Amino acid sequence: MPDITGLEIHGLEVRYGPVEAVRGVTLRAEPGTITAILGANGAGKSSLMKAISGLVPATAGRITLDGDDITRLPPHERARRGLSHALEGRRLFHRMTVEENLKVAWDFRNRGGNFRAVADRVYEQFPMLAPRRQTPAGMLSGGQQQMVILSAALIHEPRYLLLDEPSLGLAPVIVQQIFGFIESVCRERGTTILLCEQVAAIALRVAHSGCVLRRGQVVRGGPAAELAADPALSAAYLGG
Ligand code: ATP
Repeated sequence: MPDITGLEIHGLEVRYGPVEAVRGVTLRAEPGTITAILGANGAGKSSLMKAISGLVPATAGRITLDGDDITRLPPHERARRGLSHALEGRRLFHRMTVEENLKVAWDFRNRGGNFRAVADRVYEQFPMLAPRRQTPAGMLSGGQQQMVILSAALIHEPRYLLLDEPSLGLAPVIVQQIFGFIESVCRERGTTILLCEQVAAIALRVAHSGCVLRRGQVVRGGPAAELAADPALSAAYLGG
């Protein structure tokens, strides 16, 4: 019997008018693993992720989640099925406090339940946020903002998590902390994670497998350890 769990992308295309951002991408994220999507600036990583969560339409191809075709579903319907997308950069409500940002994420899918307990768990996971719960998100450091973004994306315990450039603009010590957290989410909760990054070395340290995008196409793929050990990879595709 075929295995129908996991996230499968087949022949995916994304176009913005004449721009072909994603050109026939096929990949599979195995359940309970981290898959790194690598590639230089403009390679099509963000467009691929947005097509998976439904923020931009796929112009061709198919996306299946646990065997169900979700290619034409609106973003909120994909979220209802357990897919969460943490966007690149600092997509927070800057004037709202940390706690208000968490509450907005919680209310997005109002299923009842106890927000207080969930928020307290966030502060346990990221003790640095606890004394800042009433601080406007715009006044936090980049690392603290990324912690809020991750916590908001995880607030409904998604089975699938899409992460767009979580290391962007962060100090190395904070990057280590954030990636340690991402790894623990996968290991402890069994969350299937798709992670796009320009900094391949960082992503490949926590990923199980990876692929390299170049001008919208997958040009390499395989186990993360294999990609990390290939010096030609960073020279050829990642500008490193
Ligand atoms: P980055 O790391 O800079 O976000 P990326 O690998 O995520 O790069 P995309 O942002 O997906 O790449 O961009 C892929 C291509 O699509 C680029 O040529 C980009 O200029 C183009 N593009 C992205 N968004 C749009 C848009 N809304 N309208 C037109 N072209 C776009």
